[in-house]
Amino acid sequence: MANEAESTQLAIIGGGPGGYAAAFLAADLGLEVTLIDGEPNPGGVCLYRGCIPSKALLHVAKVISESKEAGAWGIHFSEPEIELDKLRSWKEQVVRKLTGGLGQLSRQRKINYIQGQAGFKDARTLEIKKQEGKAQLRFQNAILATGSYPASLPHLSPDSPRLLDSTSALEIQDIPKTLLVIGAGYIGLEMATVYASLGSQVTVVEMTEGLLPGADRDLASVLGKRLEGVLHSLLFKTKVTHMEEEAKGIRVHLEGAEEGKHLFEKVLVAVGRKPNSAIPGLERTQVELNDKGFIQVNAQRQTTDSAIFAIGDVVGEPMLAHKASHEGRIAAEVVAGRRVFFEPRTIPAVVFTDPEVAWCGLTETEAKAEGQAIQVARFPWAASGRAVTLDRTDGLTKLIIDPETERILGAGIVGPGAGELIAELVLAVEMAAVASDIKLSIHPHPTLSETVMEAAEVFFGQSTHLYRPAKK
Ligand code: FAD
Ligand code: NAD
Repeated sequence: MANEAESTQLAIIGGGPGGYAAAFLAADLGLEVTLIDGEPNPGGVCLYRGCIPSKALLHVAKVISESKEAGAWGIHFSEPEIELDKLRSWKEQVVRKLTGGLGQLSRQRKINYIQGQAGFKDARTLEIKKQEGKAQLRFQNAILATGSYPASLPHLSPDSPRLLDSTSALEIQDIPKTLLVIGAGYIGLEMATVYASLGSQVTVVEMTEGLLPGADRDLASVLGKRLEGVLHSLLFKTKVTHMEEEAKGIRVHLEGAEEGKHLFEKVLVAVGRKPNSAIPGLERTQVELNDKGFIQVNAQRQTTDSAIFAIGDVVGEPMLAHKASHEGRIAAEVVAGRRVFFEPRTIPAVVFTDPEVAWCGLTETEAKAEGQAIQVARFPWAASGRAVTLDRTDGLTKLIIDPETERILGAGIVGPGAGELIAELVLAVEMAAVASDIKLSIHPHPTLSETVMEAAEVFFGQSTHLYRPAKK
């Protein structure tokens, strides 16, 4: 444990996927590491109240929705009986198992893990508030991996337990009869999927023209169509202007394409996240923030204070766990003296709805906006044998290809398992693969991965299962 006199080679503040990945690699590279976080084990938002609990609940949602669809295949299940206590404890068990495992990995690597809140006493000394008092820790280098927190709508919102953010929504305190989700982004749509499958009547309101801003429209529209059958309503170009608590719920005032006042038992605000950059005493260092409050870093994730690095959500978009971990590993290597840079060709995005939506590299929307010449090869899942066996032919796999060099510049997939399938295309983009590399790689049959190979075949007008001859 750190006390008055203690010092460390590398101090890492924040034990999320950025912080713990950095700590583990730094220890593997021979550095003496101290990792500080408020929880008893590493994990951060992702494991305790983000990626992992949400995916456990989405798995449950998938089981419920498949059991309903099975009626069409002659298999009839009765309405599910939901034991909320058991569901919650299963989800908590998943979190405990994974965070406990990280604690063990941290101990195996001899990392000094301190449970507490860290701030800067001066530019090279941390002050750590622990349950049993304060400690000071001098460091040679530090990595700030403090993550982010949910944005709120303070000027509109009453102070009410009926108002949820992602953290309280994941606790599944109850299954409200009616739920309004504000924001059709990652969290809004994933949590809407969970609550709708558990039996809530869910309305989603989004201020822009469509769901998942950032994703290509042909991918988003496949998800949109399916959500029409799952959600009560999906309102676009509509803003919440005011909310007030009443005895039976929250009265929400809507303005825009949809106008009116509606009562919802609960309201989930999912309108983005903000960086946790208000680290106590940060002003005692040379670290600078940009105008959005993110910590400024260079390509080595070094801040404007040369001994201090920063990674993950606190340095900016995309706020994704895999981006945080990759940055963490880069920062650890730089601290260990290696000349490496954070320069991925692509950071994949996956929305774990049903169907999943995944994309990487250049999108069609970006190419159009930049006037870049591309060719898009689309393989609809209606032509995939595997998709037919799953009764899920609404999917789509598309490749964004440079017409001159035939290089794969980007890809998008919508359909069950899209999040797993996109990994092949991340590798293709990173390795500068050309369309024929994918076309000539034998993909196993019958799998959804064949849609990737057949999309490459479509590019040449030679797809086995889709008659679409090349334009002469
Ligand atoms: P975090 O995971 O936010 O961890 C930061 C840690 O630092 C926290 O434990 C915090 O308490 C601690 N901390 C902050 N300040 C201090 C301090 N002063 N002293 C000590 N400790 C401090 N991303 C994906 O890639 N895939 C997903 O499926 C996914 N699902 C998500 C679902 C939800 C509901 C949410 C909310 C997020 C999801 N994300 C997902 C995003 C993902 O959780 C974040 O991108 C990721 O956790 C960022 O990692 P990080 O290391 O930057 O910070
Ligand atoms: P988001 O940025 O994904 O989506 C927010 C949505 O809210 C946008 O569509 C935006 O237009 C809309 N919006 C903003 N203000 C609004 C308002 N006043 N009224 C109506 N709509 C409004 O943010 P999020 O869903 O809160 O998620 C935060 C971040 O967490 C994501 O950007 C992502 O980085 C991360 N995350 C990732 C995953 C995943 O990888 N599967 C899952 C959950 C969260």
